[in-house]
Amino acid sequence: MIHRLCIVGVGLIGGSLARALRAAGRVEEIVGTSRNGAHLQRAEELGVIDRYDTDIASAVQGADLVFVSVPLGAMRAVFQALKDSLADDAVLTDAGSVKASVVEDARAVFGAVPGNFVPGHPIAGTEKSGVEASFAELYQDRRVILTPVEETRPQAVATVRAMWEAAGARVTEMPVDHHDEVLAATSHLPHALAFTLVESLARLSDQREIFEYAAGGFRDFTRIASSDPVMWRDICLANRGPLLAAIAHFTGDLAELAELINDADGERLLEFFETAKRARDAFAG
Ligand code: NAP
Repeated sequence: MIHRLCIVGVGLIGGSLARALRAAGRVEEIVGTSRNGAHLQRAEELGVIDRYDTDIASAVQGADLVFVSVPLGAMRAVFQALKDSLADDAVLTDAGSVKASVVEDARAVFGAVPGNFVPGHPIAGTEKSGVEASFAELYQDRRVILTPVEETRPQAVATVRAMWEAAGARVTEMPVDHHDEVLAATSHLPHALAFTLVESLARLSDQREIFEYAAGGFRDFTRIASSDPVMWRDICLANRGPLLAAIAHFTGDLAELAELINDADGERLLEFFETAKRARDAFAG
């Protein structure tokens, strides 16, 4: 049982965790904090949090568990704001989509990664943002990756694992760098491609006609380009190396496809699409 959970950033990710833990009956009190009192008031009206405080330092006082779910670019400032108010035995964790940058932020603010800090990342989300978009089932049967570092205390990892399992998630552990490489390929690259496709079509002079006739394929492929631009700017900047490597790899494959089309090589094109279809069907199945 969590006695007091403090959520820093009560948006889609933080709000959904609050709802899930409340639905599971695993938390006594939830305190919310972020920059904007109106957002927090809405979260309170929706019953997602019990009370709020726009002062992060006051909000984390007395919490046994603190969950930071703000954009990556705000992590360091949040750590700085809560640093002197965190109880000695409180466990701190986060939801940032890139782990090396968050670990680096923690190291910069605390001097070393605190033993009670457990870096984490729920592999769940939607293209929507804010507390209104949050829902209790978001983490049901979804994976959460924890990336404890050498300094992380096993007891803190166990606490965070139990929290996520109570929210319905399946928890795995992975080294920080491996997480960032895997997520660059499976999440950050697809988002970068979706944003680029929409941006590229929007720049064409006859874009109105293009969007008018765009059908299901376009809608399916580009849904994630409706995601929050601030969040995605921060992810791209925080995971530059692995994301650039994934983009370079993809660019090579796209060039190969262009060559097959240019050569009118139907046989190899069919092979290319059949291999992709088999992989996609296996994944979807
Ligand atoms: P969101 O819905 O936009 O929520 C972000 C929250 O952070 C808002 O409540 C915002 O409230 C607060 N915030 C922003 N800047 C802040 C600052 N400087 N200080 C304090 N609070 C601040 O975003 P989200 O989708 O929940 O994402 C949150 C984190 O989870 C990000 O790090 C993201 O990388 C990660 N994540 C997202 C997904 C996804 O699919 N969305 C999946 C996994 C992980 P105010 O405006 O009131 O400050």
